[in-house]
Amino acid sequence: MTTQTLVPPAAGDDLLVLGALRASIDNIDHELLRLLARRNEVARDIGLAKRVTGRPVFDAGREREQADRLSLLARELGLDAHLARDLGRLLLRGSFASQLEAPPEPPPAPVPPDSDAFRLARCEPGRPRTVVHAGSARIGGGLFEVIAGPCAVETRDQIELAADHARACGVRVMRGGAFKPRTSPYEFQGLGLEGLKLLARAAHARDMAVVTEVTDPADANAVAEHADMLQIGARNMQNVPLLRACARTGRPILLKRGASATIREWLCAAEYVLLEGNPNVVLCERGIRTFERETRNTLDLSSVVALRAMTHLPVIADPSHAAGRHEWIAPLCHAAHACGADGVIVEMHPCRDSALCDKRQALSPGQLRQISDALQGLSRAG
Ligand code: PEP
Ligand code: MN
Repeated sequence: MTTQTLVPPAAGDDLLVLGALRASIDNIDHELLRLLARRNEVARDIGLAKRVTGRPVFDAGREREQADRLSLLARELGLDAHLARDLGRLLLRGSFASQLEAPPEPPPAPVPPDSDAFRLARCEPGRPRTVVHAGSARIGGGLFEVIAGPCAVETRDQIELAADHARACGVRVMRGGAFKPRTSPYEFQGLGLEGLKLLARAAHARDMAVVTEVTDPADANAVAEHADMLQIGARNMQNVPLLRACARTGRPILLKRGASATIREWLCAAEYVLLEGNPNVVLCERGIRTFERETRNTLDLSSVVALRAMTHLPVIADPSHAAGRHEWIAPLCHAAHACGADGVIVEMHPCRDSALCDKRQALSPGQLRQISDALQGLSRAG
Protein backbone atom coordinates (compact mmCIF):
# COMPACT_ATOMS: atom_id res chain seq x y z
CA MET A 1 0.00 0.00 0.00
CA THR A 2 1.32 3.47 -0.82
CA THR A 3 0.78 6.36 1.52
CA GLN A 4 0.60 9.95 0.32
CA THR A 5 1.88 12.73 2.50
CA LEU A 6 0.18 16.07 2.01
CA VAL A 7 2.70 18.83 2.52
CA PRO A 8 0.92 21.89 3.96
CA PRO A 9 1.50 25.00 1.81
CA ALA A 10 3.83 27.64 3.19
CA ALA A 11 2.19 30.67 4.78
CA GLY A 12 0.61 32.88 2.06
CA ASP A 13 0.73 30.11 -0.51
CA ASP A 14 -2.55 28.59 0.72
CA LEU A 15 -4.65 31.25 -1.00
CA LEU A 16 -2.69 30.74 -4.20
CA VAL A 17 -3.32 27.00 -4.10
CA LEU A 18 -7.03 27.52 -3.38
CA GLY A 19 -7.29 30.08 -6.19
CA ALA A 20 -5.67 27.71 -8.69
CA LEU A 21 -7.93 24.84 -7.66
CA ARG A 22 -11.02 27.03 -7.93
CA ALA A 23 -9.95 28.26 -11.37
CA SER A 24 -9.58 24.71 -12.55
CA ILE A 25 -12.98 23.64 -11.20
CA ASP A 26 -14.53 26.73 -12.88
CA ASN A 27 -12.93 25.67 -16.18
CA ILE A 28 -14.38 22.20 -15.83
CA ASP A 29 -17.88 23.66 -15.14
CA HIS A 30 -17.61 25.93 -18.19
CA GLU A 31 -16.50 23.02 -20.35
CA LEU A 32 -19.49 21.00 -19.09
CA LEU A 33 -21.84 23.82 -20.10
CA ARG A 34 -20.25 24.04 -23.56
CA LEU A 35 -20.69 20.28 -23.94
CA LEU A 36 -24.33 20.60 -22.85
CA ALA A 37 -24.94 23.27 -25.48
CA ARG A 38 -23.43 20.95 -28.14
CA ARG A 39 -25.53 18.09 -26.82
CA ASN A 40 -28.68 20.20 -27.22
CA GLU A 41 -27.81 20.90 -30.86
CA VAL A 42 -27.37 17.18 -31.54
CA ALA A 43 -30.67 16.45 -29.74
CA ARG A 44 -32.42 19.00 -31.97
CA ASP A 45 -31.03 17.26 -35.07
CA ILE A 46 -32.20 13.90 -33.69
CA GLY A 47 -35.66 15.44 -33.26
CA LEU A 48 -35.60 16.57 -36.90
CA ALA A 49 -34.49 13.12 -38.08
CA LYS A 50 -37.31 11.52 -36.08
CA ARG A 51 -39.87 13.88 -37.56
CA VAL A 52 -38.62 13.23 -41.11
CA THR A 53 -38.76 9.44 -40.59
CA GLY A 54 -42.04 9.57 -38.68
CA ARG A 55 -40.61 8.12 -35.46
CA PRO A 56 -41.92 9.11 -32.00
CA VAL A 57 -39.75 11.36 -29.80
CA PHE A 58 -40.06 9.09 -26.78
CA ASP A 59 -38.43 5.65 -26.96
CA ALA A 60 -38.62 3.78 -23.64
CA GLY A 61 -36.16 1.05 -24.70
CA ARG A 62 -33.52 3.55 -25.78
CA GLU A 63 -34.01 5.52 -22.53
CA ARG A 64 -33.45 2.39 -20.42
CA GLU A 65 -30.33 1.40 -22.38
CA GLN A 66 -28.91 4.92 -22.04
CA ALA A 67 -29.56 4.94 -18.27
CA ASP A 68 -27.93 1.51 -17.84
CA ARG A 69 -24.87 2.57 -19.83
CA LEU A 70 -24.51 5.75 -17.75
CA SER A 71 -24.76 3.81 -14.46
CA LEU A 72 -22.15 1.34 -15.67
CA LEU A 73 -19.75 4.09 -16.68
CA ALA A 74 -20.38 5.92 -13.40
CA ARG A 75 -19.46 2.76 -11.48
CA GLU A 76 -16.29 2.32 -13.54
CA LEU A 77 -15.34 5.94 -12.83
CA GLY A 78 -16.04 5.56 -9.11
CA LEU A 79 -18.89 8.10 -9.22
CA ASP A 80 -21.92 8.16 -6.97
CA ALA A 81 -24.75 6.06 -8.49
CA HIS A 82 -27.39 8.65 -7.50
CA LEU A 83 -25.45 11.41 -9.22
CA ALA A 84 -25.28 9.37 -12.42
CA ARG A 85 -28.99 8.58 -12.24
CA ASP A 86 -30.00 12.21 -11.58
CA LEU A 87 -27.69 13.49 -14.31
CA GLY A 88 -29.06 10.90 -16.74
CA ARG A 89 -32.62 12.02 -16.01
CA LEU A 90 -31.71 15.67 -16.46
CA LEU A 91 -30.00 14.98 -19.78
CA LEU A 92 -32.93 12.95 -21.06
CA ARG A 93 -35.36 15.67 -20.04
CA GLY A 94 -33.22 18.21 -21.91
CA SER A 95 -33.13 15.95 -24.97
CA PHE A 96 -36.91 15.66 -25.12
CA ALA A 97 -37.33 19.39 -24.78
CA SER A 98 -34.86 20.04 -27.61
CA GLN A 99 -36.45 17.40 -29.84
CA LEU A 100 -39.96 18.76 -29.58
CA GLU A 101 -41.03 21.52 -31.89
CA ALA A 102 -41.79 24.82 -30.17
CA PRO A 103 -45.40 24.69 -28.94
CA PRO A 104 -47.80 27.17 -30.52
CA GLU A 105 -48.25 30.44 -28.62
CA PRO A 106 -51.17 30.19 -26.17
CA PRO A 107 -54.09 32.49 -26.99
CA PRO A 108 -54.03 35.79 -25.07
CA ALA A 109 -55.57 35.45 -21.61
CA PRO A 110 -59.05 36.98 -21.39
CA VAL A 111 -59.72 39.74 -18.84
CA PRO A 112 -61.24 38.13 -15.71
CA PRO A 113 -64.87 39.19 -15.23
CA ASP A 114 -65.63 41.83 -12.54
CA SER A 115 -61.94 42.52 -12.09
CA ASP A 116 -61.99 46.34 -12.03
CA ALA A 117 -61.24 46.28 -8.31
CA PHE A 118 -57.82 44.82 -9.12
CA ARG A 119 -57.35 46.29 -12.59
CA LEU A 120 -53.56 46.66 -12.24
CA ALA A 121 -53.09 43.13 -10.93
CA ARG A 122 -55.34 41.35 -13.41
CA CYS A 123 -54.35 39.52 -16.58
CA GLU A 124 -54.97 41.45 -19.75
CA PRO A 125 -54.18 40.60 -23.36
CA GLY A 126 -50.74 41.94 -24.17
CA ARG A 127 -49.82 42.58 -20.52
CA PRO A 128 -46.61 40.67 -19.74
CA ARG A 129 -46.27 38.46 -16.69
CA THR A 130 -44.41 40.13 -13.82
CA VAL A 131 -40.96 38.84 -12.95
CA VAL A 132 -39.77 39.88 -9.48
CA HIS A 133 -36.02 40.16 -8.91
CA ALA A 134 -34.59 39.34 -5.48
CA GLY A 135 -30.79 39.01 -5.49
CA SER A 136 -29.99 36.47 -8.20
CA ALA A 137 -33.52 34.98 -8.09
CA ARG A 138 -36.10 35.84 -10.75
CA ILE A 139 -39.45 34.89 -9.24
CA GLY A 140 -41.96 34.39 -12.03
CA GLY A 141 -39.17 34.14 -14.60
CA GLY A 142 -40.05 30.52 -15.44
CA LEU A 143 -37.87 28.65 -12.94
CA PHE A 144 -39.11 27.24 -9.64
CA GLU A 145 -37.56 29.01 -6.64
CA VAL A 146 -37.07 27.40 -3.22
CA ILE A 147 -36.90 30.15 -0.55
CA ALA A 148 -35.87 28.86 2.88
CA GLY A 149 -34.65 29.79 6.34
CA PRO A 150 -35.73 29.64 9.94
CA CYS A 151 -39.06 30.90 11.22
CA ALA A 152 -37.22 33.39 13.43
CA VAL A 153 -33.71 34.77 13.83
CA GLU A 154 -32.66 33.58 17.30
CA THR A 155 -28.89 33.98 17.72
CA ARG A 156 -25.90 34.82 15.56
CA ASP A 157 -24.71 31.18 15.64
CA GLN A 158 -28.13 29.85 14.71
CA ILE A 159 -28.53 32.18 11.75
CA GLU A 160 -24.96 31.68 10.48
CA LEU A 161 -25.41 27.91 10.57
CA ALA A 162 -28.83 28.18 8.93
CA ALA A 163 -27.28 30.33 6.18
CA ASP A 164 -24.52 27.75 5.60
CA HIS A 165 -27.10 25.02 5.15
CA ALA A 166 -29.40 27.15 3.00
CA ARG A 167 -26.51 28.10 0.71
CA ALA A 168 -25.39 24.48 0.44
CA CYS A 169 -28.93 23.63 -0.70
CA GLY A 170 -28.74 26.18 -3.52
CA VAL A 171 -31.09 28.65 -1.84
CA ARG A 172 -30.94 32.14 -3.40
CA VAL A 173 -33.40 33.92 -1.13
CA MET A 174 -33.20 33.29 2.59
CA ARG A 175 -36.11 33.91 4.95
CA GLY A 176 -36.02 34.71 8.66
CA GLY A 177 -38.37 36.54 10.98
CA ALA A 178 -37.06 39.43 13.09
CA PHE A 179 -40.40 41.04 13.90
CA LYS A 180 -42.60 38.08 14.77
CA PRO A 181 -46.38 38.49 14.87
CA ARG A 182 -47.03 35.67 17.39
CA THR A 183 -50.50 34.50 18.31
CA SER A 184 -49.75 34.79 22.04
CA PRO A 185 -48.06 37.89 23.47
CA TYR A 186 -46.13 35.58 25.85
CA GLU A 187 -44.31 33.84 22.99
CA PHE A 188 -40.91 34.84 21.53
CA GLN A 189 -41.52 38.06 19.59
CA GLY A 190 -38.26 38.11 17.60
CA LEU A 191 -35.04 40.09 17.95
CA GLY A 192 -36.28 43.08 15.95
CA LEU A 193 -33.83 45.15 13.92
CA GLU A 194 -30.79 43.54 15.59
CA GLY A 195 -32.04 40.14 14.42
CA LEU A 196 -32.57 41.44 10.92
CA LYS A 197 -28.98 42.75 10.81
CA LEU A 198 -27.70 39.28 11.80
CA LEU A 199 -29.82 37.69 9.06
CA ALA A 200 -28.74 40.19 6.43
CA ARG A 201 -25.06 39.77 7.29
CA ALA A 202 -25.28 35.97 7.17
CA ALA A 203 -27.27 35.81 3.93
CA HIS A 204 -25.48 38.57 2.01
CA ALA A 205 -22.05 37.17 2.90
CA ARG A 206 -23.16 34.00 1.13
CA ASP A 207 -24.67 35.76 -1.86
CA MET A 208 -28.27 35.17 -0.84
CA ALA A 209 -31.02 37.79 -0.78
CA VAL A 210 -33.16 38.30 2.34
CA VAL A 211 -36.92 38.27 2.81
CA THR A 212 -38.36 39.23 6.19
CA GLU A 213 -41.68 40.31 7.63
CA VAL A 214 -42.66 43.88 8.47
CA THR A 215 -45.42 44.25 11.07
CA ASP A 216 -45.50 48.01 11.68
CA PRO A 217 -45.66 50.72 8.98
CA ALA A 218 -43.19 52.75 11.06
CA ASP A 219 -40.53 50.02 10.60
CA ALA A 220 -40.85 49.70 6.82
CA ASN A 221 -37.97 52.00 5.85
CA ALA A 222 -35.58 50.62 8.46
CA VAL A 223 -36.32 47.04 7.41
CA ALA A 224 -35.93 47.95 3.74
CA GLU A 225 -32.38 49.15 4.44
CA HIS A 226 -31.34 45.58 5.27
CA ALA A 227 -33.82 43.30 3.50
CA ASP A 228 -34.13 42.72 -0.24
CA MET A 229 -37.80 41.80 -0.05
CA LEU A 230 -40.49 42.71 2.49
CA GLN A 231 -43.04 40.18 3.65
CA ILE A 232 -46.54 41.19 4.65
CA GLY A 233 -47.88 38.38 6.82
CA ALA A 234 -51.24 36.64 6.78
CA ARG A 235 -52.38 38.59 9.85
CA ASN A 236 -51.72 41.87 8.05
CA MET A 237 -52.86 41.20 4.49
CA GLN A 238 -55.53 43.89 4.68
CA ASN A 239 -53.58 46.35 6.82
CA VAL A 240 -53.71 49.19 4.31
CA PRO A 241 -51.25 51.57 6.04
CA LEU A 242 -48.73 48.70 6.19
CA LEU A 243 -49.30 47.76 2.53
CA ARG A 244 -48.73 51.38 1.52
CA ALA A 245 -45.68 51.94 3.71
CA CYS A 246 -43.99 48.76 2.48
CA ALA A 247 -44.87 49.52 -1.14
CA ARG A 248 -43.30 52.99 -0.89
CA THR A 249 -39.92 51.58 0.11
CA GLY A 250 -39.63 50.31 -3.48
CA ARG A 251 -38.59 46.85 -2.24
CA PRO A 252 -40.36 43.82 -3.74
CA ILE A 253 -43.27 42.65 -1.61
CA LEU A 254 -44.11 39.08 -0.60
CA LEU A 255 -47.82 39.24 0.14
CA LYS A 256 -49.16 36.32 2.12
CA ARG A 257 -52.81 35.37 1.85
CA GLY A 258 -54.88 36.17 4.94
CA ALA A 259 -56.11 33.05 6.75
CA SER A 260 -59.69 33.81 5.81
CA ALA A 261 -59.22 36.02 2.77
CA THR A 262 -60.82 35.25 -0.58
CA ILE A 263 -58.66 35.30 -3.70
CA ARG A 264 -60.31 38.57 -4.74
CA GLU A 265 -59.61 40.24 -1.39
CA TRP A 266 -56.01 39.10 -1.71
CA LEU A 267 -55.71 40.55 -5.21
CA CYS A 268 -57.23 43.82 -3.96
CA ALA A 269 -54.55 43.92 -1.25
CA ALA A 270 -51.90 43.48 -3.98
CA GLU A 271 -53.60 46.30 -5.88
CA TYR A 272 -52.83 48.71 -3.01
CA VAL A 273 -49.12 47.97 -3.51
CA LEU A 274 -49.30 48.33 -7.30
CA LEU A 275 -51.20 51.59 -6.96
CA GLU A 276 -48.31 53.04 -4.95
CA GLY A 277 -46.15 52.55 -8.06
CA ASN A 278 -44.46 49.39 -6.83
CA PRO A 279 -44.97 46.69 -9.49
CA ASN A 280 -43.02 43.95 -7.69
CA VAL A 281 -45.47 41.78 -5.80
CA VAL A 282 -45.25 38.04 -5.22
CA LEU A 283 -48.39 36.38 -3.87
CA CYS A 284 -47.95 33.60 -1.32
CA GLU A 285 -50.58 30.95 -0.58
CA ARG A 286 -49.96 29.87 3.04
CA GLY A 287 -53.13 27.98 3.87
CA ILE A 288 -56.55 29.13 4.97
CA ARG A 289 -58.63 28.46 8.09
CA THR A 290 -61.08 25.61 7.58
CA PHE A 291 -62.82 23.12 9.90
CA GLU A 292 -59.79 20.82 9.57
CA ARG A 293 -57.61 20.45 12.67
CA GLU A 294 -55.02 17.81 11.65
CA THR A 295 -53.17 20.41 9.62
CA ARG A 296 -52.40 23.88 10.90
CA ASN A 297 -54.12 25.47 7.90
CA THR A 298 -55.52 24.05 4.67
CA LEU A 299 -53.13 24.71 1.77
CA ASP A 300 -55.47 25.92 -0.96
CA LEU A 301 -53.50 25.02 -4.06
CA SER A 302 -56.54 25.72 -6.19
CA SER A 303 -55.79 29.40 -5.51
CA VAL A 304 -52.47 28.96 -7.32
CA VAL A 305 -54.27 27.58 -10.36
CA ALA A 306 -56.95 30.28 -10.24
CA LEU A 307 -54.40 33.07 -9.83
CA ARG A 308 -52.55 31.97 -12.96
CA ALA A 309 -55.67 32.81 -14.91
CA MET A 310 -56.52 35.97 -12.96
CA THR A 311 -53.24 37.83 -12.46
CA HIS A 312 -49.87 38.43 -14.08
CA LEU A 313 -48.20 38.45 -10.63
CA PRO A 314 -46.01 35.49 -9.61
CA VAL A 315 -47.41 33.07 -7.04
CA ILE A 316 -45.57 30.91 -4.53
CA ALA A 317 -46.77 28.56 -1.77
CA ASP A 318 -45.81 28.23 1.88
CA PRO A 319 -46.47 24.61 2.85
CA SER A 320 -44.73 25.08 6.24
CA HIS A 321 -47.42 27.27 7.79
CA ALA A 322 -50.13 25.21 6.11
CA ALA A 323 -49.01 21.69 7.05
CA GLY A 324 -47.59 22.64 10.44
CA ARG A 325 -45.50 19.44 10.39
CA HIS A 326 -42.11 19.05 8.77
CA GLU A 327 -42.79 15.54 7.48
CA TRP A 328 -45.72 16.74 5.32
CA ILE A 329 -43.96 19.62 3.63
CA ALA A 330 -42.04 17.90 0.78
CA PRO A 331 -45.09 16.39 -0.97
CA LEU A 332 -46.88 19.74 -0.72
CA CYS A 333 -43.89 21.45 -2.36
CA HIS A 334 -44.15 18.99 -5.25
CA ALA A 335 -47.90 19.61 -5.43
CA ALA A 336 -47.31 23.38 -5.54
CA HIS A 337 -44.91 22.87 -8.44
CA ALA A 338 -47.42 20.67 -10.24
CA CYS A 339 -50.09 23.38 -9.83
CA GLY A 340 -47.92 25.95 -11.59
CA ALA A 341 -46.49 27.83 -8.60
CA ASP A 342 -43.36 29.90 -9.20
CA GLY A 343 -41.77 28.56 -6.04
CA VAL A 344 -42.16 27.75 -2.38
CA ILE A 345 -41.06 29.33 0.88
CA VAL A 346 -40.25 26.83 3.64
CA GLU A 347 -38.93 26.95 7.19
CA MET A 348 -35.67 25.18 8.03
CA HIS A 349 -33.81 25.21 11.37
CA PRO A 350 -30.26 23.90 11.81
CA CYS A 351 -31.21 22.29 15.18
CA ARG A 352 -34.98 22.18 15.21
CA ASP A 353 -35.31 20.69 18.72
CA SER A 354 -34.10 23.98 20.11
CA ALA A 355 -36.17 26.24 17.80
CA LEU A 356 -37.91 29.08 19.63
CA CYS A 357 -40.68 29.33 17.09
CA ASP A 358 -42.68 26.87 14.94
CA LYS A 359 -40.38 23.95 15.80
CA ARG A 360 -42.91 21.29 14.74
CA GLN A 361 -42.83 22.47 11.14
CA ALA A 362 -39.11 23.21 10.85
CA LEU A 363 -37.38 21.16 8.16
CA SER A 364 -33.96 19.74 9.00
CA PRO A 365 -31.18 20.79 6.62
CA GLY A 366 -31.32 17.28 5.12
CA GLN A 367 -35.04 17.56 4.42
CA LEU A 368 -34.50 20.93 2.78
CA ARG A 369 -31.76 19.45 0.62
CA GLN A 370 -34.12 16.76 -0.66
CA ILE A 371 -36.71 19.38 -1.58
CA SER A 372 -34.27 21.73 -3.24
CA ASP A 373 -32.44 18.92 -5.09
CA ALA A 374 -35.76 17.86 -6.56
CA LEU A 375 -37.31 21.26 -7.31
CA GLN A 376 -34.92 24.23 -7.21
CA GLY A 377 -34.49 25.62 -10.70
CA LEU A 378 -36.98 23.27 -12.41
CA SER A 379 -39.08 24.84 -15.12
CA ARG A 380 -42.39 26.12 -13.87
CA ALA A 381 -45.18 23.64 -14.65
CA GLY A 382 -48.24 24.65 -16.67
C1 PEP B 1 -44.02 33.64 8.69
O1 PEP B 1 -43.83 33.42 7.49
O2 PEP B 1 -43.12 33.72 9.51
C2 PEP B 1 -45.41 33.78 9.15
C3 PEP B 1 -45.69 34.23 10.36
O3 PEP B 1 -46.31 33.39 8.23
P1 PEP B 1 -47.87 33.77 8.10
O4 PEP B 1 -47.97 35.26 8.07
O5 PEP B 1 -48.24 33.11 6.81
O6 PEP B 1 -48.56 33.15 9.30
MN1 MN C 1 -43.18 30.41 11.23
